[in-house]
Amino acid sequence: MDISQTAEDSAQKAPTLPSSGGSSNGSVADFTVPEGEPGQPHEALFLVLAYLPVFELLSMSEACISLRDAVKNDVLQWLKIVVQRPLNYRLSDEILMELTSMANGKLRTLALVNCVKITDDGLQRVVGRNPLIDKIYIPVCTSLTPVGVIRAVKTLSKNGHRLKNLWINGIYNIKKEHFEALCSYLPMNQAQQEQQRLKPLLLNEHTKFPTLVDHKNHPVIDMGICPRCKEVSMVFDCPRKETCKLKIERSLTDCRGCKHCIPRCKECGGCVASDEQEDAVCADILCSDCWLKLPKCNFCNKPYCKQHANEKLCSLSSSGFVCDVCEVKFVGNLCYNIQD
Ligand SMILES: [Zn+2]
Ligand SMILES: [Zn+2]
Ligand SMILES: [Zn+2]
Ligand SMILES: [Zn+2]
Ligand SMILES: [Zn+2]
Repeated sequence: MDISQTAEDSAQKAPTLPSSGGSSNGSVADFTVPEGEPGQPHEALFLVLAYLPVFELLSMSEACISLRDAVKNDVLQWLKIVVQRPLNYRLSDEILMELTSMANGKLRTLALVNCVKITDDGLQRVVGRNPLIDKIYIPVCTSLTPVGVIRAVKTLSKNGHRLKNLWINGIYNIKKEHFEALCSYLPMNQAQQEQQRLKPLLLNEHTKFPTLVDHKNHPVIDMGICPRCKEVSMVFDCPRKETCKLKIERSLTDCRGCKHCIPRCKECGGCVASDEQEDAVCADILCSDCWLKLPKCNFCNKPYCKQHANEKLCSLSSSGFVCDVCEVKFVGNLCYNIQD
């Protein structure tokens, strides 16, 4: 099942079910629910299942017996398992085993985004029972270790099987020797490594989790060796190329590098020179151009980057917003004084 879409994507791409009032022009199928006793769910609902993320899919399976059976018995829906917010913090090794067992050993894509409870043993058990997995996305699964990931990739590499994608950024303590061991199991000959290097990886594009539909455009492995500090890290490119101010400021021939070596704008991914670095409420860096375009807090006049704004601000009214920091500082004080 393609459960790779974010709620936003699903809203755009998943089939929309017309309201019970039926279609307005009569030329398409009539979706009007017959009056009387509640019956079987409309068959269109079963088509929707393949587009739902795990959280919604599991909720749907509790709606009625036929939906529960449809979710449970159709292996196709479970060939891609993507767990992200809001289920990520609750996903344990045991629940992961249960979820992946739905695929009957045929799981192809395992994407666990920021699933902090998943351990090396949990991952190992899943790959042991699903030898066909060819894409693993486990960014910021902070309980995993480099040694555990190498063991899992090695297990999957038996009998000539090869992973197409491995994303591991945010797993702690990945050293050069771990990176090289991982690369030795990946389908990366010299030409592919060169091609991966030439394909620009931009900070602003990377932070949107991929829909996993078009994996050919993803790098085989998301980490690399930073050309500046020589550490294993995500190595980003600059979208500004010749016009990059930082490149001119530091007289660089190339401004490719990890986020520790080159400060980058969270919104556009461009390098940020010292005189154009702007403050955001979140800890992210913004360039002056992007800073100008974002809505600001009514009190401190700082913006959130778009990602953090989406997470924190449910609705942005025309009267603006008050950021978390100011809310604690000013609004909290105000309530306290009123109570006094
Ligand atoms: Zn670096
Ligand atoms: Zn920018
Ligand atoms: Zn640059
Ligand atoms: Zn503020
Ligand atoms: Zn931010």
